[in-house]
Amino acid sequence: MFGNFFNKETVVEETPNQWIKCPKCTSLMYYKEVEAKRNVCPKCNHHFRISAVKRIASIVDEDSFVEYDDNLAPVDPLKFTDKKSYKKRIEEAKAKTGKTSSVMSGSCTIGGMDIEIAVFDFAFMGGSLGSVEGEKIVRGITRAIEKECGFIIVSASGGARMQESTYSLLQMSKTSAALNRLHHKGLPFISILTDPTMGGVSASFAMLGDIIMAEPGALIGFAGQRVIKQTVGVDLPEGFQRSEFLLEHGLIDMIVDRGDMHETLTGLFKLFKKDKKEVIQEVIKEEVIEEEIVETIEEVSEELPEEVLEEVSEEVLEEAPEEELKA
Ligand SMILES: [Zn+2]
Repeated sequence: MFGNFFNKETVVEETPNQWIKCPKCTSLMYYKEVEAKRNVCPKCNHHFRISAVKRIASIVDEDSFVEYDDNLAPVDPLKFTDKKSYKKRIEEAKAKTGKTSSVMSGSCTIGGMDIEIAVFDFAFMGGSLGSVEGEKIVRGITRAIEKECGFIIVSASGGARMQESTYSLLQMSKTSAALNRLHHKGLPFISILTDPTMGGVSASFAMLGDIIMAEPGALIGFAGQRVIKQTVGVDLPEGFQRSEFLLEHGLIDMIVDRGDMHETLTGLFKLFKKDKKEVIQEVIKEEVIEEEIVETIEEVSEELPEEVLEEVSEEVLEEAPEEELKA
């Protein structure tokens, strides 16, 4: 339950430095001042990265979150070792975050509506997508289908987890296929992109939202800028791969400040939830009005003698410029 989470986090969270320096505007601020603003710089609106627990608290209705599948933990099918073994990396991530995977998922309400949610935590192995993370997302989608409710993923990830190789790449298709099932049930999926959303995550579910929203200034892309620059051999435009750039180029739908997220989601889900009958009735009403207009025009036309009608059409033809007639 939610209360327990916060207690757990107080234990595992490192003692915050008393003063925080904003990387964007370089202001030095007391950490409580920043925390009180949901970890957003009060001077320049820079959105600091936050844990999954804090993220959930900032989005869902108070005390409404119930976590699922927190017992799922990664295994090491390939016995992978680079500088350190995968096993060791998992242990370190667990000790650092108190979690067993980079995704926290569960049920909640937003604006009183039932919603299923999955949230990435960048602090756990760079928010990488492995088998456990993919499975948690798919189970969340399955619950949303069963409950006939909306689904949210908040991404903060460097991409697929290389230590699981193909197993982690498979999660891209697995989650996309599950989202397709959700889509065919007519249930909404809102994807929230936070800093950073890269690699296999941005190349799968993160970009499949019915609505894709991002936090201000978030880094969003597939390959890193250095790789792209080396490949294409030109300087990249200013603001490349940031939320604002993506919005300008039509890749995302909206940028939402952290403080407005709850309200925005409530509004959107209400729209999606609108009774289908109600919507159909509204459409029918509009059509009835249209039909009435057409009928009135026809009635008026019938009353006019044919010669008058011909005269009017000839006049209209003469007055119209040639280009318009061709078109
Ligand atoms: Zn700042």
